[in-house]
This record gives sequence, C-alpha cells and structure tokens, in this order.
Amino acid sequence: MVQPHFLVVTFPAQGHINPALQLAKRLVRTGAHVTFVTSISAHRRMSKSPTPDGLTFTPFSDGYDHDFNSTDDQQHFMSEFRRLGSKNLTDILVSFANEGRPVTCLIYTLLLPWAVTVASNLQIPSVLFWIQPATVFDVYYYFFNGYGDFITKNGNDPSWFIELPGLPLLTSRDLPSFFLPSNTNLSALSLFQELLENVVGEAKPTVLINSFDALEVDAMKAVDKVNLIGIGPLIPSAFLDGKDPLDKSFGGDLFHGSGDYMEWLNSKPESSVIYVSFGSISVLSKRQMKEIEKGLLEIRRPFLLVIRKPQNGTEETDSNDMEEVRREGMIVPWCSQVEVLSHLSVGCFVTHCGWNSTLESLVAGVPMVGFPQWSDQGTNAKLIEDVWKTGVRVRVNEEEGIVGSDEIKRCLETVMGEESGEGMRRNAKKWKDLGREAVMEGGSSDRNLREFVDEIGTEKS
Ligand code: UDP
Repeated sequence: MVQPHFLVVTFPAQGHINPALQLAKRLVRTGAHVTFVTSISAHRRMSKSPTPDGLTFTPFSDGYDHDFNSTDDQQHFMSEFRRLGSKNLTDILVSFANEGRPVTCLIYTLLLPWAVTVASNLQIPSVLFWIQPATVFDVYYYFFNGYGDFITKNGNDPSWFIELPGLPLLTSRDLPSFFLPSNTNLSALSLFQELLENVVGEAKPTVLINSFDALEVDAMKAVDKVNLIGIGPLIPSAFLDGKDPLDKSFGGDLFHGSGDYMEWLNSKPESSVIYVSFGSISVLSKRQMKEIEKGLLEIRRPFLLVIRKPQNGTEETDSNDMEEVRREGMIVPWCSQVEVLSHLSVGCFVTHCGWNSTLESLVAGVPMVGFPQWSDQGTNAKLIEDVWKTGVRVRVNEEEGIVGSDEIKRCLETVMGEESGEGMRRNAKKWKDLGREAVMEGGSSDRNLREFVDEIGTEKS
C-alpha cells in the first residue's frame, strides 16, 4: 500500500484549527503524510509548537492576508474565502500531483462546502470532518430533510419540544441557534445546508466526528444514510492517552497570554478553582460580565477568568470591577485551556459550551456550568446537563435578557457543592475514563481512524 497523503483544510478560526491540527497529528501517527492548509493570516498568527515529521503546512491566501477585522464585511470575507480558497486550494492540489506527491484524500472542516467541488473536479476523494457532536450533525440533517418548517414554525415557543429519531427531546433553546426565528445569520444556515447537501449527495458517505462512540451511542447511528465515524476526543496526547508526552498543546493558538497562571493554580487546593472562559469568538456585554464577576466574588472561591484582548479592531468582552476582581481571582487574556482543565486545582468550568471546550472538560473530568451563547452551544449544554449529567445550565432571565449573579452563584454552588455536585463529579470521572479508552490502542476511535486510513489507502492502491 502506498503511503496515503491527506490534505486537511480548515476555516481560520480557533475552534476549527485546534481539532483539525490534532486530527492531522493522529493521521501522521498512523503512518500517513499530512499537509495542513489554512489561511495565510491564521497561519502567521498560529503559535508554532514542534510538529511531528510527516506534517507540513501550506497556507493559502483568502484575500485577507493582513488579517480579518470585525469592521470588515463578513459577507465579503466569506465570498472571497470561497472564491480565492477554491482557486488556491486547486493550485495546491495540482502542484502536489505534478510533484509526484498526489493527495489521496482531502479532509475539510465546517464552512467550506466548496472544498467538495474542488476535490471532485480533480477526482480526489473528500471527507467532511465535523467538529461538533454527532447529535448536532443529526439535528442539522433532520432540519434539512423534512423537519425544517416544523422547527422554524415552533422555535419561538419556549414550551415546545421535538423528538427526533435517536436524539433526546429537544426544546427550542436546545437547538442550533441558526434554526430559530431569532436567527439573523442566514448565510451560516445556507452554508450548513450546502455542506450537508454535498455530503449526502454521495452513497453512504463517511463523516469524521470529533466525538467517541460511547459518548453518543445512538446519535452516531441515528442517520442511516451517513456513516458517522467517531475519532475523538481530539486533544493533545499529553492530556489524554499520554502516548506522546511532548504533545502538550494544540499548537495553533491564534491568541497569546503569559503562563504565570500555572504558578497561581499550583498554590490553590485541589478542586477549589473555578475556571471561566467563553472561547475564542463570543463577546459578552459589559452588563453580563458584571453579573458574572459579582457571582464569582460572592461565592468566595478562587477563579481564573479569561478575557481576550481586542484584536485588530475587534470588540471584546470587557471586565468591570477590575481591581476587586483581580484581588480575588486571576484574569488572563488567554491560557492553555487543556493545561488549565487538567490541573488538579480546577473544580468547575464555566463555559460557553463550544464543542472543543466541552470535550476538553469531559476528558479532564471537570464538571461544568453551561453558559451557551449561539450556534451548537445550546445543544451541547443540553447534552452536558441532561444526557451526560456532568453539569448544569444557567437560566436566562428572559425579561432582562441576561443571566443574573444569583443564578450564576446558584449554579456554581450546585456543581461545587459536596452533596449536590457529587453525582456530576462521578459522571465526569466516568466520561474522562471512557474518553481516554476510546483513543487508546484498540479503543473505538483509534480503530475507527485506522480503518478509515486503511480504506483510503486501499482505494488508491
Ligand atoms: N482556548 C484556549 N485558551 C483560552 C480559551 C480557549 O486554549 O483561553 C481554546 C480551547 O481549548 C478550545 C478553543 O480555544 O480548543 C475554543 O474552541 P471552542 O469550540 O470551545 O469554542 P469557540 O472558540 O469555537 O467558540
């Protein structure tokens, strides 16, 4: 069998780059060669940590080589990303073929439905890498295959719920935000539609999922027209199976901070610290931050709070009572989240429930307070609270449109309480063990990935 050459192409956002890079590293460990492709600006910003032999980077221009500002027109960015991305990705694939190193399979993340066309024009197989849970894939599939109108019609009713085959009962707040009547991001919804149409157009296509079989037993099999393959959790090895102790970071951070929080964490008792982060995109209002800070101060436990610095004119979450907050807790502009979550002092994660953050918390065995903002995060919060039972979800005060400090305090007390949090800590430990098992040699994700690589290699030889 010839050595397979995978090209992994990803949207230039942190939540896409992290799992895609981790997938690239795992593919290299199976003996494949991997070329990692993202935009020039993201590539320039990415922290460069050592990468294994067999993994190379070939960034492409998306027309925003200087970087993307929030003042830039999103629609224009997306259409340039598609136009130039298609052309430049084609050029990269052609040049590999000309050099005698043809790409065996193109793997692409969300928001790049056009990658399928690029690959099929050159007769290269392509596979979608879904960076959200299988449950969310299924929900999108159902939405675009028969349930869309029904969901849109009822999505405003808070007492309404829907039972979709293989999934838990979902209320409107548990559905991806793009489905709801309040959604203004119509282009995101149509990108998802195109993505799924392109995939489902094939006969029983394979979709790689950053999740593992035991975590989503029914959801992995719910849609029989698609072969969902759990290959996660895709987390740096040092924090997962320990096979590669040098693999200590995702290696693609677009934001930077200092490491002095580790010393601070070392000084705290076991399971005492509340870690608070809303990922790499969400921006919370000043008013909402005030309530969070008030809740954190009132609970009287040490906390580590990530507040990103504005980048290139972007608006970012602001802290209010800096001085008092700094006295009681620690504020950082960015941290190595996987490292923080695996630190023994951390006892709870207040999270926006981005899928990477959710998986990282599950694998570290840290219970969560889910504070979802948009996209798939409401669904992830539902799974955390009601299916995996490793946390609680905040209730929004509908009149005020924010989550009050009392509610934040209540959730933290529930999760960290000796009795009230006991079951959640037990479940967190269970998922931590199962997540690790999945990626160990012979575990479900390890097997799934190897079988996928073998199949691709066999098809080509
Ligand atoms: N992250 C990090 N340091 C931080 C905040 C976030 O390393 O201070 C990483 C986190 O580990 C995760 C990614 O950024 O891998 C965020 O992805 P996620 O899907 O959770 O949320 P998104 O940023 O896409 O909303």
